[in-house]
Amino acid sequence: EGAVNRIAAGEVVERPASAVKELVENALDARATRVTVDIADGGRTLIRVTDDGHGIDPDDLPMALSRHATSKIDGSDLLNIHSFGFRGEALPSLGAVGRLTITSRAQGSDGAATIHVSGGRIDAPRPAALRQGTVVELRDLFHATPARLKFLKSERSETMAVTDVIRRLAMAEPGVAFALRDISDGGERILFRADAAADMTGRMAAILGRAFTDNAMSIDAERDGFRLTGLAGLPTYSKGNSVSQYLFVNGRPVRDKMLTGALRGAYVDVLARDRHAVAALFVTCDPELVDCNVHPAKTEVRFRDAGIVRGLIVSGLRHALAGAGH
Ligand code: ADP
Ligand code: MG
Repeated sequence: EGAVNRIAAGEVVERPASAVKELVENALDARATRVTVDIADGGRTLIRVTDDGHGIDPDDLPMALSRHATSKIDGSDLLNIHSFGFRGEALPSLGAVGRLTITSRAQGSDGAATIHVSGGRIDAPRPAALRQGTVVELRDLFHATPARLKFLKSERSETMAVTDVIRRLAMAEPGVAFALRDISDGGERILFRADAAADMTGRMAAILGRAFTDNAMSIDAERDGFRLTGLAGLPTYSKGNSVSQYLFVNGRPVRDKMLTGALRGAYVDVLARDRHAVAALFVTCDPELVDCNVHPAKTEVRFRDAGIVRGLIVSGLRHALAGAGH
């Protein structure tokens, strides 16, 4: 059972960045307004996510750690577009691949509790001190699976992957304050910080810079049940590279070759030359029209009709570029 769980867990948790993604998404699902992430050694020895969300009732702590237990669906509402998680897989998976401690205080409760799980073994919850929200600490990721440890990249690239996850989630949730700190060797280095912003443009200015938002076209297009909004850099703004395309589907950060290809194609099409663009685009649609959970750890999407979305991106950008005089 332990080995099987560890293999299943490896599907969800590939590297520190995937653990961070799951934990921050949980914080956002708990309606946190402030999320702080501390990592050490690229997240390999420590990941700690602190939020001020609604917390977990002490009685529900063991449940939160058991496989396929989720508080986010009730059976009738299989496609809850308002929450990131619904599989109930992240916490048990993290408890199988590292030493996991959750301390939480449920809103309105007069005390907090803490629970620890390691190697899939769950200890009984104990009373703890915490003012509000939840602190999840994951230590020594993959300590029991040296083969997986070997697949981790350098501390620097794992840290970059963690930063990228937080940046993208911060773009998706402008109203939430985010901080990422590297606390390796007892230090404290801010890797990323975004205060709560009034709107998407304000958040993009904080993350991508005012030079971008001042030189970006506002996109707003609609087609066959799909809406495309966001900001796309003017052709004269040429700071972009292949990783400067930020795409979101129904509020979730995604990486999708079709979407980035369409975006690039639109610029090439209109400008008749190939160049990378900085863009943050948000596709929204009925959740029936897209599957965002092709793979639990990946950020792929599968549209029922990819052609419509591709066309929307091309026409939305073409329209904006034409309006900007291109
Ligand atoms: P899922 O997010 O798919 O429901 P998880 O394994 O990520 O599954 O989390 C299990 C459950 O633990 C969640 O459904 C939620 O009830 C609770 N939980 C996890 N993290 C938090 C958090 N930061 N704040 C409040 N509740 C949380
Ligand atoms: Mg989750």
